Amino acid sequence: MRKINIHCRKDRKGLRMTYTPTGDSKSLVLQGVTIACPYCKEARSLHNMTEEEFLGKVVGDKFFI
Ligand SMILES: [Zn+2]
Repeated sequence: MRKINIHCRKDRKGLRMTYTPTGDSKSLVLQGVTIACPYCKEARSLHNMTEEEFLGKVVGDKFFI
């Protein structure tokens, strides 16, 4: 099964978090989840991003949040 590794877009380090696509392109990804990067301390979240949009931004197996 495909796993997308979540990385910080600022320092590009892995956040030890993965997302497994559900196969439902309209489902919302990480809705309501706030991720705080342990390196730059910035908190980020996705707002109403569908899985289709999310996968469109994936580079290789990485998503930069
Ligand atoms: Zn960071």
